[in-house]
Amino acid sequence: MSKNIHLLLKQNIGAKNTPVVKVGEEVKRGQLVATFEGLGAYLHSSVDGKVIDVTEDEIVIEANEVQSEDFVKIEKGATIAETVKNAGIVGLGGAGFPAHIKLGTDLGGTGYILCNAAECEPLLSHNMDQLLEEPKKLIRGMQLCMEACNAAHGVFALKEIHPKEIQALEKMIDDERITVKAMPNMYPMGEERAVVRECLGIVLETDKLPSEANAVVVNSETMCAIAEAVDELKPLIDKRLTVAGYLNTALSTEVFKHVPVGTKVGDLIEAAGGIYKYGEYGEIIMGGPFTGKHSDYDAPITKTTGGILVTQPYPKDERKMGILVCACGGNEERLREIASFMGAEVVGVQKCKQAIEGKGGVLKCENPGHCPGQAEKLLNLKKSGAQTVLISNCTDCTNTVMGVAPKMKMPVYHQTDTILDTMGVERIRFLKDGQKK
Ligand code: SF4
Repeated sequence: MSKNIHLLLKQNIGAKNTPVVKVGEEVKRGQLVATFEGLGAYLHSSVDGKVIDVTEDEIVIEANEVQSEDFVKIEKGATIAETVKNAGIVGLGGAGFPAHIKLGTDLGGTGYILCNAAECEPLLSHNMDQLLEEPKKLIRGMQLCMEACNAAHGVFALKEIHPKEIQALEKMIDDERITVKAMPNMYPMGEERAVVRECLGIVLETDKLPSEANAVVVNSETMCAIAEAVDELKPLIDKRLTVAGYLNTALSTEVFKHVPVGTKVGDLIEAAGGIYKYGEYGEIIMGGPFTGKHSDYDAPITKTTGGILVTQPYPKDERKMGILVCACGGNEERLREIASFMGAEVVGVQKCKQAIEGKGGVLKCENPGHCPGQAEKLLNLKKSGAQTVLISNCTDCTNTVMGVAPKMKMPVYHQTDTILDTMGVERIRFLKDGQKK
């Protein structure tokens, strides 16, 4: 393992952190090392060690050889939200929205806390792993969120492909206000508004928050971190994540627990067995197959990192390519990147017609996972001269694409193909019987 931990100063939605430590300073695990103004989250050291660099973008800490099990406790706040703020907790499912802001929502004694335990990205399994290992902590986290937001009900939303986890929760819940909802096995059931739709039957417009449906959605790992902050006064200093792909451990995925934030990606890859053929792999992805980003061996993990995936080499196809962009999968930039790995020239770009441009040009889906039809978009790509198509669509839309593209003699690539092929997992293509509800 590398000795140095790199704590990025921008790990969440909102403000960048301002360091409060100097080079040469000894720090303890859990010690506050950076503060924030406005919307943001505190940053704590994830190791015992010495600060060896402070730049505009990061604090670098040389970790001591021997690490204590203990940590510097946070100050207990006057409210649950304040304690969560002191712990520096953000949405750990990938969004990185400061959790204390969500917990400041007042649902007036009638609303819902929805626990997003969809773990929607293929291959990732650290959320389900935690649920089986720490169901009491998760339920405690739910109760704390309900208390913080003055909610009447709590719902754990899981995919129906996890009957073991559903049963484990149902067996452990001893609170009649809390129930479990089984959602269809489709991507993107973990999108926040999809969770609201599946649990409450309300379709929110793209610019509306769950609070419009009198609900607050909290990711399951975040809920456990909230329980740790309140009950143990623990700051957010470590992560659970899944490592998988083109590794010497072949087709297994490995879940790592208590990984210090700031650990090098390469350290986790090595701990998982190392890359199968160095110099011959495709790419390293930080995150899941749909929403992950290209990364590298030396990058540090952040509070929101859920997966490290190594792909086998990308297939080469130099035919002219059209790309079809989904609001909940890879964006245009990401699909262009994959096209370049494949050696293809992009000659046309289309967006799913439910992908609406919101603030800062970010796409939002009008009704996540319910296909509006893709024939027109494929026809447009064909007219642009595309001979193949690369898509990032949800399961339902991919099913539609597969019903149309072969008739147009356009081979289809999905952005997740190469990592799923690497793992020997079935590609996302046609819906199975009973998958759509
Ligand atoms: S309907 Fe379109 S934008 Fe929405 S999730 Fe499916 S592909 Fe993406």
